[in-house]
Amino acid sequence: SPILVWMRRDLRLSDHPALHKAAASGRPVIPVFIRDGLVDGLGAAPKWRLGLGLEHFAQRLADKGSRLILRSGDARAVLLELIEQTGAGAVCWMRAYDPDSVERDKAVKAALRERDIDAESLAGHVLFEPWTVETRTGGFYKVYTPFWKAVKGRDVAAPLPAPSEFRAPGTWPDSEALEDWALGAAMRRGASVVRPHVRLGEDAAQARLGAFMAHKVAEYDDTRDLPSVDGTSCLSENLALGEISAAQCWHAGIRAREEGKAGAETFLKELVWRDFAYHLMWHTPRILTENWREEWAGFPWNTDERRAEVKAWKQGRTGIRFVDAGMREMYVTGRMHNRARMIVASYLTKHLLCHWQIGLKWFEDCLIDWDPASNAMGWQWSAGSGPDATPYFRVFNPVTQRDKFDPKRAYVDRWIAEGRRNPGKDALSYFDAIPQHWHMAPGDPYPDPIVPVDEGRKRALDAYENRGF
Ligand code: FAD
Repeated sequence: SPILVWMRRDLRLSDHPALHKAAASGRPVIPVFIRDGLVDGLGAAPKWRLGLGLEHFAQRLADKGSRLILRSGDARAVLLELIEQTGAGAVCWMRAYDPDSVERDKAVKAALRERDIDAESLAGHVLFEPWTVETRTGGFYKVYTPFWKAVKGRDVAAPLPAPSEFRAPGTWPDSEALEDWALGAAMRRGASVVRPHVRLGEDAAQARLGAFMAHKVAEYDDTRDLPSVDGTSCLSENLALGEISAAQCWHAGIRAREEGKAGAETFLKELVWRDFAYHLMWHTPRILTENWREEWAGFPWNTDERRAEVKAWKQGRTGIRFVDAGMREMYVTGRMHNRARMIVASYLTKHLLCHWQIGLKWFEDCLIDWDPASNAMGWQWSAGSGPDATPYFRVFNPVTQRDKFDPKRAYVDRWIAEGRRNPGKDALSYFDAIPQHWHMAPGDPYPDPIVPVDEGRKRALDAYENRGF
């Protein structure tokens, strides 16, 4: 009988344990993607990017004589219906770790097993599954460095090759049409503005990994913090949808380290930050929704999204160039350099005293590399409310940060048109991307700071002191 492979955030053929296992079984393989409530609930940019990823992946499967069957509805009901229609006797998939997926997957597994369907979930989205890394006393890690020390010497299984072929079922079940899902409906700027910045699919991700290891990793220690330099792997977009596996990146990093390339170890450490985020989300799912540190409960953050300073932050017109450059980069490309993410997050939560949830949600709507675990960890880290967070009293100064990390102003000039005689194409493309009702034009004068840097810093420190921090 056929085997259903339930595809989720793992749109690749190589190093895919579930597809590999299904292909090796010799049974007919039916790959399926289900548009359930979790897909419907995605932010505009990640949902649009998922649509691109699915279209591309379906073509890859078609090239191998297979198909991607698309169905919408509750995952359990969809799978049971497909089992009935195809006579499938087994379903397998790769594990997810966010609380909503975990709950869904448990229910699915129980329902399948109840009906004697062979249901199996496999590892593959992270390097080290969250429960496999334990402190000496059997707890979980709350600080990154000991987590890194605990995992850095571990073996990561060698990546699996892509199956050479898949046996097709006698008849294929019906599939819905991807266009009808309209996954890009809420992302009007997607095709026209963001698309040229997307690196789509498994081959592109592998090419980028190869190029990064050949030409960039040796300099990574020096360049990774400079937002004007293309010095990082830019693989987060592909990792988010599983177009490349963390293990493939890990092994490439290990090889580069063996070749004596400086920066390779730092790259491995960054990959482990991603795992650490998953570790935290698995053990404390409240990191997604609540202040991780309880002493922050009741902190008087601004939570009103309609406030002028929140709008200015989202629209990249705070009058602080480094902040505005980061916000505009994200709006146009769907990505933001890590240094800029830290600056804009610190500015929102500290200078503007706005709740990190406001920022987390805006990122969730705008990032094509949106990842629930890394986004929540990044925001709580920046706000000071998270585990292993930047100390609350460390208020990044976006002006001195720019002097340090963008000394020639290449990054801010790349993204800010106002006040420049000949703004470049990226700076101008921001004005093609934004809605008209933002009323911004490249010829406008650049705004004065909505909250001057020193004043904001003092206000934040006063607020912390009032709370007795
Ligand atoms: P590289 O420097 O090439 O690093 C390689 C890989 O390591 C990345 O692709 C990523 O998977 C992982 N990594 C690197 N830094 C981090 C980090 N700080 N935390 C977790 N993993 C890391 N990353 C996301 O993938 N999705 C998000 O939604 C996201 N939101 C963030 C929000 C905030 C406020 C902050 C401060 C950081 C956030 N990050 C997020 C982490 C980080 O900014 C990105 O992973 C990184 O910029 C991706 O670029 P890259 O692939 O070129 O990274």
